[in-house]
Amino acid sequence: MLEVEQLVMEYGRFRAVDRCTLTVEKGHITGLIGPNGAGKTTLFNMIAGAITPTSGRIRYLGEEITGLPADKRFHRGLVRTFQIPHEFHRLTVLENLMMVPGRQAGESLLANWFAWGKVAQDEREIEARAHETLDFLELGHVADEKAGNLSGGQKKLLELGRTMMTDAKLVLLDEPAAGVNRTLLRKLEEKIAILNRERGYTFILIEHDMEMIEKLCHPVICMAEGRVLIEGDFKTVRSDPRVLEAYLGET
Ligand code: ATP
Repeated sequence: MLEVEQLVMEYGRFRAVDRCTLTVEKGHITGLIGPNGAGKTTLFNMIAGAITPTSGRIRYLGEEITGLPADKRFHRGLVRTFQIPHEFHRLTVLENLMMVPGRQAGESLLANWFAWGKVAQDEREIEARAHETLDFLELGHVADEKAGNLSGGQKKLLELGRTMMTDAKLVLLDEPAAGVNRTLLRKLEEKIAILNRERGYTFILIEHDMEMIEKLCHPVICMAEGRVLIEGDFKTVRSDPRVLEAYLGET
């Protein structure tokens, strides 16, 4: 579904991502782990089109997308979430889900900026889809709350909900577990697993929470210092001496 080939991102003389090559298979939840500063988010930014790689290639669904603008990738079903949720905090939870480009110029700009949204549809259809999404995420009781008042975990669920309002095929999840309490964490895991198993979403999941990675991800890819160190099942990757050394070097 996604092929990243020899991808490099340089900031001045510093290589944040260094000749990174990996493949993501359709239908999988691929885990992306690695110590702080390994280059995981920078890689996501390049795949989503937020930044342009210094060199290398990205192919998605059989086509090269290396130079394709973020919104075009988004409309092909390549969608991302952020480590720090990007909800519109003054809008209600329902309104956040209903944000679509083309409805109002300002909204459209914002939606495109964050690469969120979807081509205009019938308003009622969108609202019905938003309610379905809230039911699925068990967030119906906060539909009319301002999104800014939600807990950290609820915001992460809402972030996942916004991907469900699109025709997402490949979803890049950036640290969904960060700032989420244990109860909501289990719920988030369950929802991601259902979206993958029953609704056909393919995920790449950046996460420091190893329990979540172990439960959800196969394969797991570990990055360090901008490079892919190893790819395999969780136990193999976690016990590999290179991975242990990379994490030890972090402290
Ligand atoms: P974490 O797990 O802490 O989120 P990460 O693996 O996602 O880390 P990145 O955020 O991709 O790591 O950062 C990789 C390296 O690139 C870091 O050393 C970071 O400081 C550097 N970096 C990222 N963005 C920029 C930038 N715009 N300019 C300069 N350096 C940057």
